[in-house]
Amino acid sequence: MQGLEIANLTKSFGSNTVVSDVSLHIEQGKFVCFLGPSGCGKTTLMRIIAGLEEPTTGDVLFDGRNITSLPTYQRNFGMVFQALALFPHLNVAENVGYSLRFRTMDKRHKADRIDELLRLVDLPGTQTRRVDQLSGGQRQRIAIARALAQEPLLFLMDEPLSALDAKLRDHMQVELKQLQRRLKITTIFVTHDQREAMTIADEIVVMANGRVQQVGSPIDIYRRPANRFVADFIGQSNLAEGILLDRTHVQLDGRTIEVRSAPSQLAIGQKVTVCVRPEGTLLSRTEMSKDLPTAKVTFVRDVGSTVEVHLDRAGQQMLSFMSPAAWDLLSGQDELAVSFAPGAATVLED
Ligand code: ADP
Ligand code: MG
Repeated sequence: MQGLEIANLTKSFGSNTVVSDVSLHIEQGKFVCFLGPSGCGKTTLMRIIAGLEEPTTGDVLFDGRNITSLPTYQRNFGMVFQALALFPHLNVAENVGYSLRFRTMDKRHKADRIDELLRLVDLPGTQTRRVDQLSGGQRQRIAIARALAQEPLLFLMDEPLSALDAKLRDHMQVELKQLQRRLKITTIFVTHDQREAMTIADEIVVMANGRVQQVGSPIDIYRRPANRFVADFIGQSNLAEGILLDRTHVQLDGRTIEVRSAPSQLAIGQKVTVCVRPEGTLLSRTEMSKDLPTAKVTFVRDVGSTVEVHLDRAGQQMLSFMSPAAWDLLSGQDELAVSFAPGAATVLED
């Protein structure tokens, strides 16, 4: 199989299992994010892929070849970590060219390559600058150029932007994504920031407690969270308990609502949790929709571009996002009717 394959990987430190039976296939050319809260095992999984840590059980394969015991330096993977390891006593060109130092490459060719890499990360002409004279964002880009110099088969980044301020981080996310698209290099990017993962990933691997919770495109994971953890960790959501009537219907509050195809392990007739995102939670005037359940408005946050309406439905908190224009028609009402947009309700696995 092309790309990276992780098969039934487990890693324990003593009695503490931090990566638990992880299996994944990362396709050639994809930009994949490992996303999860601090301590969930992202770095450990990344270090195993890099060959810096040995798994307790399980295998790592690259392009079909088992590399579980292959030393790091023989893998030809590029790495950028949160704590940068640029050499402060070397200038920019010497840092970027570091991995080329033993290559049989003439001086001219090597200089051209460094030139090309610096243009790639948008820092042309900085060859002779000292790295301690560069800003945080510039240093981060030098570290990326250095990792790319060896033309890695796989590009691994562990929270590479977390030390940067918010504005620069936003900018670098877009730059990294565009760079990866141009180079088409298979990339794994670790982050605990869901917004960052949503921005840059083709595919997100959501992790918690050493286990993979869900794998999918950002929009898939947002719209169809697999379980409570994902629904909670990524974005905001309204959860409600109901009874599964059939694969596409749930009884909620004595009413039948349509849901996306429920997970097959759930039995008809059992209690299930339905998740609806705030923008799929629709509000209307009670006199216009007499047969709908109602909720009390408890707080309205109008941030200009969207309006967040907080509600109380029989003691349960709910949240609805709407456009200012739609809200204009409803403001002043204490009580509103609640419904779900078609296709907005998902049944969770747990
Ligand atoms: P993340 O990157 O998601 O924050 P880590 O992979 O760094 O998580 O850590 C997962 C867990 O493994 C943590 O509880 C951490 O303390 C533990 N851990 C990581 N490395 C070691 C180690 N070398 N020895 C013992 N425990 C470790
Ligand atoms: Mg980490």
